[in-house]
Amino acid sequence: MTKKRSTGKPSLPTEKNGPHRSGTVAIVGRPNVGKSTLLNAALGERLAIVSPVPQTTRDRILGILHRPSAEIALLDTPGIHKPHSRLGRSLNRTARNAAAEADVVVFVTSVPMGAPRVHPGDRTLLADIGKDVPTILAVNQIDKIRDKSLLLPLLEELGKLRDFAAIVPISALRGDGVDIVLDEVEKLLPEGKPRFDDDTLTDRPTRFFVGEFVREPILMSTREEIPHAIAVEVVRFEEKGGTVHIDATIHVERDGQKRIVIGTGGEKLKAIGTAARKRIEALVDKKVYLSLFVRVTPDWTDSEKRLAELGYGK
Ligand code: GDP
Ligand code: MG
Repeated sequence: MTKKRSTGKPSLPTEKNGPHRSGTVAIVGRPNVGKSTLLNAALGERLAIVSPVPQTTRDRILGILHRPSAEIALLDTPGIHKPHSRLGRSLNRTARNAAAEADVVVFVTSVPMGAPRVHPGDRTLLADIGKDVPTILAVNQIDKIRDKSLLLPLLEELGKLRDFAAIVPISALRGDGVDIVLDEVEKLLPEGKPRFDDDTLTDRPTRFFVGEFVREPILMSTREEIPHAIAVEVVRFEEKGGTVHIDATIHVERDGQKRIVIGTGGEKLKAIGTAARKRIEALVDKKVYLSLFVRVTPDWTDSEKRLAELGYGK
């Protein structure tokens, strides 16, 4: 989708007059380290949904950042983890393929609480994505560490894992260090012309984000198995005279989950609808009418056919 940006000043051509660069960057890492938060911070737009629930991101999302000297296509990916279902395996595949196809990998990790040691998952994952693509290490969530000197031994240990092109401590949540990561990325991109129009924000259609923005408040307001048991299907998306009419089905796996999502007297579903509608309206800049339905679709997370119908997999 495209979006007109109203960020004020037109960008001036760079003084450097270096070649224009253009390429794809895969953001890879364990679940919950802050990959989607980093994408949003880089784009200055809340495009990818973010929640404390692992596996929030199920699809790859391409966000396009237009800089005067480079076009950076940032690919947010699902976190790689131990898969427990067919959906889980499909998420891992999505992330690995993205890394293999990219010009640059930004490998995100977060600073652990307590003893700052390298997470064993990072070792496995780095070995997994191979050494063929230049990789920048972004050490995220440094806002959580008050005494920054504690970071040094961790950075040193991480630096031994691979010959990283750069190691950048960041706080994606606060936007600290994000521009440094992007500057480092830019240096590694191949020379080339822009591939997207100036106002193209993402390769995904608006419908896709509608589904995601309905899923986000559900992730934020439910617990345990529910976040993993839902899928959202947009069944109608129609623009009529400046307003957008949307019908979406929330698939759950069991009756009990349906009751939880609907809530007493439909209260929970109403709150989900309101939160989602606000997010959608901010994205499309139009008034939105949103109707939500909850349906039990048993075992959709483990049925290949249903996964494909809902847009996951492949
Ligand atoms: P992903 O699974 O790697 O995409 O992680 P998300 O971007 O969804 O973030 C997971 C959780 O970590 C969310 O609750 C974020 O708000 C939080 N988070 C992300 N970046 C930061 C950060 O720099 N600092 C702190 N304190 N929290 C962060
Ligand atoms: Mg994510």
